[in-house]
Amino acid sequence: PRAAPLELSGNDKAPLNEVAPPEAKTAVRDLLPPQQDLPPLEGLSTLRHVSHLAHPGDSLTRLFIKFGLKEPERQLWLQSIQKSHPIKGLRPGQEMHFYFVKPEPSANRSGGQETLKALEIELNEDWILTWEKGRKEIVFSKREKPYDVELKTAGGVVESSLPEEALKAGLDPSLISQLADIFSWEIDFHKDIQTGDTFKLLYEQKSRKGREDQASFRILAAEIVNAGQKFFAIYFEQEKGKGSYYDLDGRSLARAFLRFPLEFTSISSQFSHSRFHPILKVDRPHNGVDFSAKRGTPVRAVSDGKVLYAGWQKGGYGRMIEIQHDSVYATRYAHLQGLAQGIHRGLNVHRGQIIGYVGSTGRSTGAHLHFELYKDKEYVDALKFEYPPEDKIEPALRRLFDNAKKLFLTELAATPHS
Ligand SMILES: [Zn+2]
Repeated sequence: PRAAPLELSGNDKAPLNEVAPPEAKTAVRDLLPPQQDLPPLEGLSTLRHVSHLAHPGDSLTRLFIKFGLKEPERQLWLQSIQKSHPIKGLRPGQEMHFYFVKPEPSANRSGGQETLKALEIELNEDWILTWEKGRKEIVFSKREKPYDVELKTAGGVVESSLPEEALKAGLDPSLISQLADIFSWEIDFHKDIQTGDTFKLLYEQKSRKGREDQASFRILAAEIVNAGQKFFAIYFEQEKGKGSYYDLDGRSLARAFLRFPLEFTSISSQFSHSRFHPILKVDRPHNGVDFSAKRGTPVRAVSDGKVLYAGWQKGGYGRMIEIQHDSVYATRYAHLQGLAQGIHRGLNVHRGQIIGYVGSTGRSTGAHLHFELYKDKEYVDALKFEYPPEDKIEPALRRLFDNAKKLFLTELAATPHS
């Protein structure tokens, strides 16, 4: 099994009897988040365009002189740049584009001299700064560089483990953790996946020119057959830029809480009202769940919230973080080796954000995360707790969602398992 560029083999394989649009490929693209093409500056194609890579010692003033800008024009540009996005010096190799315009025949004042119509300066890998002379003034904009989006599909049959199979299918590891996250409330990737289970993915690969090795990936649709039961996930944005995964009925697969705060190897100690404490050698209630994991494994906030406590706790918790999620729920993460950078009391964190790393600080016998969940200040067993599900697709967006679903399912149906 290999991840292959998406080739549509027509709609004959469509699982649905409903009419699929003739250009499914185009249509799928239309449903994707906008590709953020950098729109060409208006009318610039008719201008004289000079590209320049900054040399050591280059400055805007020098370049303006080099390109023949007269003093008043230079001042106009420099002031405008200073006001909008000051350039503190050019980085050698920094890419710049100058666009020059000839004066209109009627306006002879500039004596037939070309003037600068627009200037583009690459800010970094992601952004371009643009100044364009309009009728009244020079207009500044900051634009994101375009990237290529490729749609791909992959599939496989599980022989040993799903992650292993997915790697064999040529999938990026980030897609595998996305997959586990998406289905985390439906399928436990550690326990439930078995030989013969199958998976199919439709995903996008986003990269910038020349930086294909740093592509980012996003699952658009997934199908897993686990013990004969089919699970689907459809990516959909109810709000621009804020996507989530839904089942075929439009119910969100996500909950306000992650099922687990980390990737763990086993659960070594479960919530109980009384257990023998290995260090204190007494029976004490164990208020929490112990997740065994390698030292240094990232620990995530299970839901959005505010950090109530982050630091060393004398009571045996070692390095500990406490998060208040809302007026009802709070969580605790203990025995951490370290806090994630920037984590401190009062900070707002979001679901899935890395807050610290697994360790064995405080009263602990080995690397693990001690995790506590509180509901209305009462301990709750996090493993048995049913977190409230998130919302469904809004009725007004239902048709859009159904369209996306239909197209995605068509793609999945056309994807072989190997
Ligand atoms: Zn514990």
